[in-house]
Amino acid sequence: MAEVTAETVDVLIVGAGPTGLACGIEAQRAGLKLLLLEKGCLVNSLFHYPANMTFFTTRERLEIGDVPFASVNVKPTRAEALEYYRRVADHYRLPIRYQERVLAIRASDGVFSVTAERSGGRQETYTSRRVIVATGYYDRANMLNIPGEDLPKVSHYALEGHAFYGRKVAVIGGANSAAVTSLDLYRHGAEVTLIYRGKELSRHIKYWIRPDLENRIKENSIRALFESQVTEIAWDWITVQTGAGERLRLENDFVFALTGYHPDVDLLRQAGVEVDPQSYRPACDLTTLESNVPGLYLAGVVISGRHTNEIFIENGRFHGKLIIDDIRRKL
Ligand SMILES: Cc1cc2nc3c(=O)[nH]c(=O)nc-3n(C[C@H](O)[C@H](O)[C@H](O)COP(=O)(O)OP(=O)(O)OC[C@H]3O[C@@H](n4cnc5c(N)ncnc54)[C@H](O)[C@@H]3O)c2cc1C
Repeated sequence: MAEVTAETVDVLIVGAGPTGLACGIEAQRAGLKLLLLEKGCLVNSLFHYPANMTFFTTRERLEIGDVPFASVNVKPTRAEALEYYRRVADHYRLPIRYQERVLAIRASDGVFSVTAERSGGRQETYTSRRVIVATGYYDRANMLNIPGEDLPKVSHYALEGHAFYGRKVAVIGGANSAAVTSLDLYRHGAEVTLIYRGKELSRHIKYWIRPDLENRIKENSIRALFESQVTEIAWDWITVQTGAGERLRLENDFVFALTGYHPDVDLLRQAGVEVDPQSYRPACDLTTLESNVPGLYLAGVVISGRHTNEIFIENGRFHGKLIIDDIRRKL
């Protein structure tokens, strides 16, 4: 790994997810001095996805930096993707500092000072001429804001199905995560109730997953309550308000609240980026990805605010080129 010095870098990238890495590769190709700060490990969000997950996307659409993604499966597993991005980081020898969470970004006289906290609590300040924020969304779950949501029997993230064998589990949500998790839990012997406020399953569910779930619902292997909302969670039960006006009390051992995630807009606002209070979309020129703060760029799914189904690895991986082209023009 290249040595990081106290000297000002040209580009500091916050987040070493697929998008941050793609930005780093473009910066390196442009001969810019760069640094990536990552609060966890390499592609930290992917590392925290369910252990046995398979990506929805075919491998070539997850490629960055022209490094071919060879995998046994056309749609790679999490393990294959982690291995791939490790190989990319090796190949480009990107200067990444791990376990450094960026707390604040301040612009002054055309230079940014970026404060990060290391795992021991020590703070470090870096200076950079340009900053790219590629922090994703996976840390911030959309909360239900109902009583009992803070109980340890509630997870906003999918977990391995085996632990739920023989248990009564509720899955809240109607999109891909809820669909895949319900099927996985059912196949690991859990008694699954899927609860969704929509009239029917989301149209965003992948076409090869939907029929499987629909058929499990039809044959009553998975119980589904549509137009329904969980209103309270207790240790042994949950209450559900149904569209038909009924109030059900269901025995329950565990709840998966898979209602999506949203970006960390506090960091953006602190840096001076205007963020729409409803959609959480940050102000950003979509042709250059520069925010309303000159020299501060946004990349990846952070751009889409709450509409996280607009940007994926598939399209976010091209943001680096747009940004670095603009930085080169302006530097
Ligand atoms: C279960 C699941 C399956 C998915 N399957 C697919 C798929 O098949 N195909 C597809 O294209 N997309 C898929 N996605 C979506 C995709 O993973 C995300 O859109 C993608 O990870 C976004 O990339 P990113 O680099 O913008 O953000 P992330 O991958 O989330 O990377 C952001 C990085 O920033 C770091 N970070 C955050 N805050 C800070 C901070 N303050 N300081 C320092 N570092 C910070 C994080 O630790 C993380 O490493 C899936 C998502 C989920 C949840």
